[in-house]
Amino acid sequence: MKTFQSSELTTQCGRKTVPAELLHDESRMEGRADAAEFPESTEEAAAILRNASKSKTKVTLSGGRTGIAGGAVPTGGIIISTSKMKKIYGICEDGNGNVSISCQSGASLDDINKFIRREKKGFFFPPDPTETSASAGGMTSCNASGAHTFGYGPTRNYVNAMTVILASGEILKLERGKYKASAETNDFILEHNDGRKEKFTASSRPQPNTKNAAGYFSGKEIDAIDLFIGSEGTLGLVTELEFKLIPCPEAEFNTFFFLSNEDAAIELTEKLRYVSDKSGITAIEYFDPGALELLRQRRLKMGPASCVPPDMPEERETAGIYIDTTCERKDVQKNIKRLLDISKNLEKGSLITAWAAFDKDERERLKKFRHALPETVNSTIAERRKTHPALTKLGTDMAVPDKYLGQIMKFYRKKMDAVNLQYVIFGHIGNNHLHVNILPSDMEEYNLGKKLYMEFAVKVLEMKGSISAEHGIGKLKKNFLHLMLGDDGIAEMKAIKKAFDPNSILGKETLF
Ligand SMILES: Cc1cc2nc3c(=O)[nH]c(=O)nc-3n(C[C@H](O)[C@H](O)[C@H](O)COP(=O)(O)OP(=O)(O)OC[C@H]3O[C@@H](n4cnc5c(N)ncnc54)[C@H](O)[C@@H]3O)c2cc1C
Repeated sequence: MKTFQSSELTTQCGRKTVPAELLHDESRMEGRADAAEFPESTEEAAAILRNASKSKTKVTLSGGRTGIAGGAVPTGGIIISTSKMKKIYGICEDGNGNVSISCQSGASLDDINKFIRREKKGFFFPPDPTETSASAGGMTSCNASGAHTFGYGPTRNYVNAMTVILASGEILKLERGKYKASAETNDFILEHNDGRKEKFTASSRPQPNTKNAAGYFSGKEIDAIDLFIGSEGTLGLVTELEFKLIPCPEAEFNTFFFLSNEDAAIELTEKLRYVSDKSGITAIEYFDPGALELLRQRRLKMGPASCVPPDMPEERETAGIYIDTTCERKDVQKNIKRLLDISKNLEKGSLITAWAAFDKDERERLKKFRHALPETVNSTIAERRKTHPALTKLGTDMAVPDKYLGQIMKFYRKKMDAVNLQYVIFGHIGNNHLHVNILPSDMEEYNLGKKLYMEFAVKVLEMKGSISAEHGIGKLKKNFLHLMLGDDGIAEMKAIKKAFDPNSILGKETLF
């Protein structure tokens, strides 16, 4: 069995009142808290947690509050915000070609990216969950991903090391590869400052064979650092991180393929998977016919300000596949030709037209076109909320293994077309991770949408998929986590939680 050590610090910190914005995140849930703390260092944060632990005060950890599952929304007690822990320490190079960046956990993705562009040209940090005000700690705690996870994987793949403070105020320094669960029993031993040794067992349940952000990491001989990644602020406060950087590709281009129907889009995706490595494909995103129709309506309403080009095909069955490709400059033409050849030789439909973007301006225009879709969905719901304030959009976040892509799409269609609800399907089709976005007009439709959401979860689990591929469980999807892991799986997670947070003060009502 391997062990890891903790140490303790005793700095005192004063309490501050609670700014209103700390009571909610992008889930639109509204919380409550008695006080908020804004530590500037690991030592200050450790002292706050030590005091909270003594008084058994609930603690909610708060980063950029871009989360959409309510993890950062407090339910009483205190908030610890990392908004004053934004230092970026610098770039590290080990002499063997490995490059990394280290920072405090409150640093935003935007700040991290700007720092890298300034200080280490030619390298980048791949995780990109769209919203660049997300913090390093929040992204790590949610194991954030995004469109480019198809090519680069989620945040987990880039976390080399972290400093994390347990509920007791004890500080752990974790490095990838240093502390692994026992090969025989999957046990860890946590050594406390007072000499106590605590044994706990990691869950050996294999991860689903698809993107997954549901519950604590599991598997055989897992790394201790992986338990904290994706734990949504329930096991400890991450205060410092070291992220791996990788070299920038020499050339990048984006393409958008308009196909005659949805089956052709699925066929194209499945064919692209086979050539993605040699073609340098980093993202495959889907726009269903309903999504393209929403964009046409946007164009009619807003004109050029819609960011929707006028030459978009008009046929109602049209489906869209957006692809990002990176490669050496000399291979650009070869890769374009490969994409075109595949898309022109589909059996289930045909290519209507394709757009390609090579230079910065063209790529920016295509990016705005893509982003116009979620903006339209959000503004449609915002409009409806004026009449029904309790309405929210219902956006699924489920993924299935590769072989089930066609089947899950048919299931979504069958269920959605059997009811009279407005909806669009879009998202990360390369990872079989599609967001079914239901746009209810009133509470009756909202409740019907929730029922369908549950039916989707049951089906996805039959296919051995995940009920949350990237947004996490937070406070909103606990019932789905239970469905996915069952009583035994939840009990395994609770045992891990107990080892790190015996009084269960961290992230109350998140996950459990
Ligand atoms: C428009 C939009 C698009 C998005 N698109 C994507 C996407 O494509 N892919 C994707 O994966 N996500 C996406 N997200 C959501 C995503 O969860 C966040 O962008 C991000 O991962 C959370 O970071 P944050 O700093 O905002 O965390 P917060 O929202 O502040 O917190 C999230 C969780 O992490 C915990 N936490 C925060 N900081 C720490 C810390 N230092 N230590 C321990 N726990 C901590 C909190 O307690 C909470 O449980 C999107 C969000 C928006 C608004």
